[in-house]
Amino acid sequence: MQRWQPAYIGLGSNLDDPQRQVLRAWERLAGLPETLAVLRSPLYRSRPFGPVPQPDFVNAVAGLLTRLDALALLGALQALERALGRRREGARWGPRVIDLDLLVFGRERRADGELTLPHAGIVERNFVLYPLADIAPDLDVPGLGRVSELKARLAPEGLWRIEPEE
Ligand code: ATP
Ligand code: CA
Ligand code: CA
Repeated sequence: MQRWQPAYIGLGSNLDDPQRQVLRAWERLAGLPETLAVLRSPLYRSRPFGPVPQPDFVNAVAGLLTRLDALALLGALQALERALGRRREGARWGPRVIDLDLLVFGRERRADGELTLPHAGIVERNFVLYPLADIAPDLDVPGLGRVSELKARLAPEGLWRIEPEE
């Protein structure tokens, strides 16, 4: 049996009532096998980046404890995306009903086709670092540094909190 490990998940949606999609995904994270859903950040609205014109996103970050290994957790997140109606066609960074990114998994660092840890986008994405800082400001992201310091380097441009701080 694996030991319990902390893992942080980035949730995003910009289709079919995005706020509802993110809250629904958060509820379903608690149902993953061998996993406890511990913390959810407030919800944020973010302006999309990239070449595809599309609606604003709703984003949040969840903190889990899990006994799954990283690849099993990624597989479970992808299965959950499908169960929540995500279809894999369409451009990368295009509109989607739900996106669940594995941001940080314990102290793991890896980069291969299947899984990069920590997630490759963390340092330049305010819609990841602001909600992550709400629930884990002191987290040391392996190889990158402390969340509160990473956040301090990014302006909250195109980012609005849509729920009050708890
Ligand atoms: P980005 O990863 O830049 O946020 P995206 O979320 O739009 O882009 P997807 O189409 O959801 O990208 O995923 C593409 C592939 O990324 C997945 O098939 C998965 O194998 C791979 N991947 C690599 N590292 C991770 C990770 N840490 N979390 C989630 N998926 C990952
Ligand atoms: Ca993503
Ligand atoms: Ca993804």
